[in-house]
Amino acid sequence: MRAAPPPLAGGTSGAEALRPLLDTVLDALHDGARARGGPLPPGGPEAVVARVAALGAVLPEHGTDPHEALRTLVHAVAEGAADPAHPLCAAHLHTPPLALAVAADLAASALNPSMDSWDQAPAASALEAEVTAALAAEVYPAAGRPDALVTTGGTESNQLALLLARERHGRIRTVVGANAHHSFHRAAWLLGLPRPVTVPTPEGTLHPAALAGALKGLDGPVLVAATAGTTDEGLIDPIPALADVCAAHGAELHVDAAYGGPVLFSRTHRHLLDGLDRARTVTVDLHKLGWQPAAAGLLAVRDAADLHVLGHTADYLNADDDTEAGLPDLLGRSLRTTRRPDVLKTAVTLRALGRAGLGALVDACMERAQDLADLVEKSPALELRARPTLTTVLFRPVTAAEPTDGATSAGSADGATPTEAAGATPTEAAGATSTDEDLAAIRRTLLAEGHAVLGRAGADGRLWLKATLLNPHATPGDLARLITLVEGSTHR
Ligand SMILES: *Cc1c(COP(=O)(O)O)cnc(C)c1O
Repeated sequence: MRAAPPPLAGGTSGAEALRPLLDTVLDALHDGARARGGPLPPGGPEAVVARVAALGAVLPEHGTDPHEALRTLVHAVAEGAADPAHPLCAAHLHTPPLALAVAADLAASALNPSMDSWDQAPAASALEAEVTAALAAEVYPAAGRPDALVTTGGTESNQLALLLARERHGRIRTVVGANAHHSFHRAAWLLGLPRPVTVPTPEGTLHPAALAGALKGLDGPVLVAATAGTTDEGLIDPIPALADVCAAHGAELHVDAAYGGPVLFSRTHRHLLDGLDRARTVTVDLHKLGWQPAAAGLLAVRDAADLHVLGHTADYLNADDDTEAGLPDLLGRSLRTTRRPDVLKTAVTLRALGRAGLGALVDACMERAQDLADLVEKSPALELRARPTLTTVLFRPVTAAEPTDGATSAGSADGATPTEAAGATPTEAAGATSTDEDLAAIRRTLLAEGHAVLGRAGADGRLWLKATLLNPHATPGDLARLITLVEGSTHR
């Protein structure tokens, strides 16, 4: 006798099949998080690999059962997660997703619309058209016909922006700041374009005069990619001034606002993005500030006509006669074919929270970043790189000179400037700042102990600890704990 196939997620019986499985999943998520107890599992990679290996065969000859498999594997992944919902998990632009967005994503999986043809996604494709139009209008409030494509994130959006520019102009040169995302270099490589010209950004942002200097030396069509929210420092290039320089040199402007774009939702802070709509294309990620589970990327374009070059025909998906008969042609909305309805979770989030609700989340994270900067400034053991623009805070320990055998004290060999950390005594200030190696070791120690997840970033020729604050539930008390942990690690 053959066993019946496992139940499906869709249809009228799907919900009843899912309900008990979801109970198992939710219990395993809860128990796994409790077993972890902190922002990430202790013991480093070896311990994690050993625990995963101990789970047993990945592909047994005969399976266990759905509840056992869900319980075991979801528990293992939750216990071994770097969980961005923990307030001390703050290394990257790794967002803690909103519960309501995750719930919507379940529905997306259950229905499994595929966005490459209307007959696989009738309502999902209609919803996507509405949401992308609305978000494009947030970026380009004054444009006549803006549009946006749903992407897997900033990397794909930046690549599409370069592709669209190449299709407008042929062999286009790209000019980026040294602060720009690495994806521009890969995109140029992938698209067969010349290597991007990289303009140094010693202050962390692309200086208009430096850009003008670079453009003067270039013939032919140029796309300048500016950044609104740099990955390392959360800085925003001076977009209006860069747009002026581009206009003066006949260059086109793309803005990578993967990180900073959602600041548009905040009444308090949206002025930081003034001039964004002068860009021909804009990258925005909603899986950073936006609190969506990955993936939730967008490429906004000022003029929908720029997207026509992406049109493509495959007879089984968008035959001309089907299109003429009124079936929407979706194949030009992406370079992908099968494509998840990532727009559903975003649509649910926009509707449930509204612009004001999202803006309040942005504001909360911006405030936490200022709080953390305050704490760093108050700590005699720490040095702050700069007051935060977005939600990224760079800091580094200042190690007091320890008069041990042969240790250098005043005037350290690397010429490090005395710290400006408030409250540092002259002796401490004159002492060697902690070396980059010490700092990297502090970060790895916190990771190995499972106490905190901090990132690292180079700036000013030195290495810094990086906290990227995307958790609107983090409290000043959480941040104080983070500071205490870092201070404790510096005195070992
Ligand atoms: C995160 C980020 C990207 C890459 O986005 P993905 O979603 O990871 O592909 C690109 N640019 C900037 C500025 C980013 O912060």
